[in-house]
Amino acid sequence: DRAVLDRAEGYLRQFADGPVTHFIDGKRYPGDGATFETASPVDGAVLASVARGGVRDIDLAARSAMAAFRTWRKTKGAERRAVLHRIADAIEARAEEIAFIECLDTGQPIRYMAKAALRGAENFRFFADRAPSAADGVSLPTATHLNYTMRVPIGPVGVITPWNTPFMLSTWKIAPALAAGCTVVHKPAEWSPLTATLLAEICAEAGLPAGVLNTVHGIGEEAGKALTEHPDIKAIGFVGESATGSHIMAQGAPTLKRVHFELGGKNPVIVFDDADLDKALDAVLFMIYSLNGERCTSSSRALVHESIYEEFAAKASERIKKMRVGHPLDPKTEIGPLIHPRHLEKVMSYVNAAKEDGATIAAGGGRVGEEGNFVEPTLYTNARNDMRIAQEEIFGPVLTMIPFEDEEEALAIANDVRYGLAAYLWTNDVGRAHRIAQEVEAGMVWVNSENVRHLPTPFGGTKSSGIGRDGGDYSFDFYMETKNIAIGL
Ligand code: NAD
Repeated sequence: DRAVLDRAEGYLRQFADGPVTHFIDGKRYPGDGATFETASPVDGAVLASVARGGVRDIDLAARSAMAAFRTWRKTKGAERRAVLHRIADAIEARAEEIAFIECLDTGQPIRYMAKAALRGAENFRFFADRAPSAADGVSLPTATHLNYTMRVPIGPVGVITPWNTPFMLSTWKIAPALAAGCTVVHKPAEWSPLTATLLAEICAEAGLPAGVLNTVHGIGEEAGKALTEHPDIKAIGFVGESATGSHIMAQGAPTLKRVHFELGGKNPVIVFDDADLDKALDAVLFMIYSLNGERCTSSSRALVHESIYEEFAAKASERIKKMRVGHPLDPKTEIGPLIHPRHLEKVMSYVNAAKEDGATIAAGGGRVGEEGNFVEPTLYTNARNDMRIAQEEIFGPVLTMIPFEDEEEALAIANDVRYGLAAYLWTNDVGRAHRIAQEVEAGMVWVNSENVRHLPTPFGGTKSSGIGRDGGDYSFDFYMETKNIAIGL
């Protein structure tokens, strides 16, 4: 649609006059002139050049966050609430712009990104309403003392985010930090940096005081590393790969950083023969092929009972072959281009791995066109759990289907990976649902449901999928210190 493309180009024009800058102490800040480029996953065209931050920019941003912390931590909860709601209003007003830019920067289809932009606003509203009670604690009296606890914001924090749903994920971290009274230095992903700048500007225009949210663009090993090492930064909220989490833990050790990690996944969806199989199939396909499969909670391993395996795989394959691969801004597109040529190469490398390990390619397995990072949605069947396609996070529209014999084997396969983020179960046997839900190694389990989020519930993973939880009060536990005060009676 030409009109949509024109509007999208209009939105991109704001990045045309020179590099996208950092945002420090309430102002755009160009840095020392070093830049990197962000390119379109559709055709490789350069979308913008972006300031490439380093130690000095991070230091400036951290000092600004430290200075702003002195006032922001004391700003009344009701006032923080009001500012965060104004930010949500502004995000809603610019939701199309955010969604369009994000589609072009990431390749994610508009049918998902339109909702992701609005979820960003919802994240701000949700934590805005909790700002006034964030400091609340409990009272623990004894015969001689009145003990009471309260929470205080931990200090300036660093937020480091990945490229897959960049805007929504950064609001999920930044909104609770701001509601808690922390100030923030955000280092967005270098493969999709554009909407982070919009967020910083939206926040400033909505009245967030200078220095409360600072954004420094750059490469992980440069700006990201400097942020994790800065002594004024008290905690790091990180979303990204498990290996990067290990680096961040080591980098933050000398300054004793508190860390919160949301990392990779290889999430099982277990389908029993007594399930509502039509609904199960819809959910299995949605959870791996939506958002290009570039989502941490994707159900990338389908464990299917052997009695229904052939039929389930055949139906899945028929549906997968009809999925529409196309331009991310086309509302009919189900699968857009992958984020980056390097990621395309990674996803495609599993086609050979699958062949070498003896799996069947039941659907897809190829690229679409020569230009851009388009791939066919892919289904590997007759897989075993020791194959690379069953053990490693591919992070693309690629499903590995494995048969199982009974409940015990399903559970053993589900748990036989290094990851433990999410698990999905499809069965109408209530006892079995509880048995498996309690034994499966995952931070979050959905039974007879796709991933549906309720923001007060804990979000996070076990094993190599993460440390800590987000959501509701869990987020405040991370961004705040609990303090006990004992009064002698
Ligand atoms: P990544 O780990 O490569 O990068 C994430 C961020 O870390 C980027 O901003 C990057 O610049 C930065 N970084 C890289 N090296 C660093 C270092 N040494 N020090 C500090 N920062 C550094 O991840 P990615 O490829 O951008 O994102 C995909 C990954 O994110 C997948 O593994 C996916 O499962 C995971 N993810 C997890 C969740 C979750 O909630 N568990 C959500 C979304 C994505």
